[in-house]
Amino acid sequence: MKPEASQLKNTAAAIHCLKCGMKNDADRDFCDNCNTTLYVSCEACGARNPRDVSRCKQCRQALHRPFWRLRYWWRRTFPRTARIKPAYFALFAVLVLLVYRVVLFLASFESAPPQ
Ligand SMILES: [Zn+2]
Ligand SMILES: [Zn+2]
Repeated sequence: MKPEASQLKNTAAAIHCLKCGMKNDADRDFCDNCNTTLYVSCEACGARNPRDVSRCKQCRQALHRPFWRLRYWWRRTFPRTARIKPAYFALFAVLVLLVYRVVLFLASFESAPPQ
């Protein structure tokens, strides 16, 4: 009965690799076969969770947030562009205003009645 119970425990504690499907011991961090990470750590409480769960088993925080990740990636990739953009926009607005004024100025010349 004892070895059976331990075997059952081992089966329950095993974790399947999401990439190659290999069954790994639960205490392993990386897949034996393809070296893929088997766990994802919670951003809120730091708890180790299997990669196939969507919420932290400890604090119920969502583990996979693709939109957040994308935002972080965007910030990391374009840190300066994001800061300069409003200034560029203001410059563009001023330029458009200037062109508009010049056009109005020229139009007033054209529409002036000939003498
Ligand atoms: Zn694997
Ligand atoms: Zn958590």
